[in-house]
Amino acid sequence: MMKYRILVTGGAGFIGAHLCERLLQEGHDVLSVDNYYTGSKNNIRELLANPMFEAMRHDITFPLYVEVDRIFNLACPASPIHYQRDPVQTTKTSVHGAINMLGLAKRVKARILQASTSEVYGDPEVHPQPESYLGRVNPIGIRSCYDEGKRCAETLFYDYHRQHQLEIKVVRIFNTYGPKMALNDGRVVSNFILQALRGDDITIHGDGSQTRSFCHVDDMVEGLIRMMDSPSHFTGPVNIGNPTECSIGELSELILRLCNSRSRLIFKPLPQDDPRQRQPDIRLAQSQLGWEPKVTLEEGLTDTIRYFESALMS
Ligand code: NAD
Ligand code: UDP
Ligand code: UDP
Repeated sequence: MMKYRILVTGGAGFIGAHLCERLLQEGHDVLSVDNYYTGSKNNIRELLANPMFEAMRHDITFPLYVEVDRIFNLACPASPIHYQRDPVQTTKTSVHGAINMLGLAKRVKARILQASTSEVYGDPEVHPQPESYLGRVNPIGIRSCYDEGKRCAETLFYDYHRQHQLEIKVVRIFNTYGPKMALNDGRVVSNFILQALRGDDITIHGDGSQTRSFCHVDDMVEGLIRMMDSPSHFTGPVNIGNPTECSIGELSELILRLCNSRSRLIFKPLPQDDPRQRQPDIRLAQSQLGWEPKVTLEEGLTDTIRYFESALMS
């Protein structure tokens, strides 16, 4: 198998840290670039002992000059509470960050993969969402810094591909969860698990009938690696996510049962532009990458709950 010098932006984040670990296991030379906005050095602490791993503090909205063969561009806060804290920086990270990483890829002739998102579909009126669906996104709402930033990044990837013949890969990631999510992440899986373990009230937004489809991080990393390794003519965009759809109410019940918790459910207002439903159509990933998720929601949540239990004790 070929060994590459691989740059992972956002390498100290939740998905990035798992990806770095897996790439090191495959024998690659891995450089994590992260400004630790939402990520943490703790996520990559064990990797630092490996001489094939290097961590650099850097904000990708500024130029970066390194020599690599492949780039996974994951840098960007993913949780609504974090990406809405400094929305201008969120758009800069997606747009200026993509321009810099594409400029880098162009100079060193590296293959580059973009971590895009199911949010490019917005609040969809097509269900489940195939890659051909163009989306229904509000350009001026509180989620727009993230959604439109990621849409513009996709545009940049395809324009560098057409204009400069760059080898690109675009993956649309659907809701992903697992160990190494930050305790203050603010997304639904980590919030509910923490609330259930602490006996706090479970905060359901709206009536809990909105749906998401949750993918375990091990399946996600496998999908990202398969996409990066796919033949150069296949650029995507490709959906990677778990098609098992679940309402937020059902998720709360499952987490309460698995945590053996007696927390109460409380209902909060639904945030503006919160998508009603989301489920990936993964037929393209199945046919082009031979990929499909293996971890069930119950197995994945059990694994994640174990992680949060030990994180709470340390
Ligand atoms: P995360 O917030 O844990 O990780 C993002 C990482 O990027 C963090 O370590 C953060 O410090 C770093 N970062 C942010 N801005 C940066 C900048 N300007 N320069 C350098 N580093 C910066 O989120 P995650 O869940 O691991 O998401 C990783 C990627 O996957 C993101 O691009 C996200 O948009 C995408 N994604 C994730 C999900 C999901 O459910 N987890 C869903 C769709 C898309
Ligand atoms: N860039 C970078 N690292 C490199 C090469 C380029 O960060 O190794 C940045 C550079 O600062 C520029 C951006 O990538 O702003 C886009 O580069 P490109 O060559 O596409 O455009 P140009 O330099 O002509 O604006
Ligand atoms: N959500 C919730 N309680 C929480 C956090 C989130 O009910 O404490 C809801 C949120 O409004 C959304 C769904 O859970 O409908 C998924 O939210 P998350 O922030 O995890 O991801 P995204 O909305 O980006 O898919």
